[in-house]
Amino acid sequence: MFDLNNLVRENVKNLVPYSCARDEFQGQEGIFLDANENPYGNLNRYPDPYQKELKAELGRIKEIPVENIFLGNGSDEIIDLCYRIFCRPGSDTALVFTPTYGMYEVSAATNDIGLIKVPLDNNFQIDIGSLGSLLQKPDLKLMFICSPNNPTGNSMRISDIEYILSEFNGMVVVDEAYSDFSDKPSVKTLSGKYPNLIVMQTFSKAYGMAAARIGIAFADRPVIAYLNKMKPPYNISTINQSAVLQKLRKMDTFKKQVSQIKSERKRLTFSLEKMKIIRHVYPSDANFLLVRTDNPELIYRKLINHKIIVRNRHKVVAGCLRITVGTRKENDKLLQTLRTIEL
Ligand code: PMP
Repeated sequence: MFDLNNLVRENVKNLVPYSCARDEFQGQEGIFLDANENPYGNLNRYPDPYQKELKAELGRIKEIPVENIFLGNGSDEIIDLCYRIFCRPGSDTALVFTPTYGMYEVSAATNDIGLIKVPLDNNFQIDIGSLGSLLQKPDLKLMFICSPNNPTGNSMRISDIEYILSEFNGMVVVDEAYSDFSDKPSVKTLSGKYPNLIVMQTFSKAYGMAAARIGIAFADRPVIAYLNKMKPPYNISTINQSAVLQKLRKMDTFKKQVSQIKSERKRLTFSLEKMKIIRHVYPSDANFLLVRTDNPELIYRKLINHKIIVRNRHKVVAGCLRITVGTRKENDKLLQTLRTIEL
């Protein structure tokens, strides 16, 4: 049986969080002499620590109650918070399915948490059989499932995710950074069903707000409470909150951009598949394509000579480059350049 209080680190349970001035008095109007701010200017006040206005708008769009939403300084902050809430340094472990997003490993290392890497199968899917008895391992506290996965681009089967959620007594983070580009449903609807699920999304990809550094977590209220307890009080600046809020109020732009990126993804796939230097274009539910070639290093360097920068993932998936879908013009330039390399 999953038991959140049994999972959470003892020091986190006992932690008395910093009580900031804005926690103690929550009114909007008044003479604020409580936070040692400068009374002059327009960015002189500390931000809303719980980003209420932004969460209200986001909750409306995603159809999730505000109480089930946490916002971090990028998803990267949420990843780090998960390690710090659920894993004891030097003794607990976490698990990832490889190849996957590199920050899970870096964040494990910065927190001194051992990381178990379970390879995805030949179709980049989770092989439940390969988990053996790992789900019962007493020191395994946290698992990251990236879906759609970076750098492979595919989504994981919902049935495998649900199997893990029901059999594993630790916390499962499903990272859906790229889900807005996918036609498959988000697992956020499973939040109420599994108390050990954190669904992570971000404003950095489809919303085009990478510079604002805002990541999203959807989870049960008690999990959200621990994330709030552990975060630095003012983790998201006022400027970034309002920039993203403005973006959320222009959902037609968001929808137009996502559909443009998806149609460019299709066009790029079609054109790349016809090239001799490209061995395979992996199907993608994300805004990038993983392509296999015979000579990734050479193609990578030649593209750089033309000022086109892609991601060389050869060391992670043999022979592969990861190419982000750009504007139509950028993609045309990429295709044109690849054709000259081909000659
Ligand atoms: N998750 C995945 C799978 C990613 O690929 C990335 C960024 N490349 C992130 C999270 C980081 O997101 P954020 O910008 O919200 O920190």
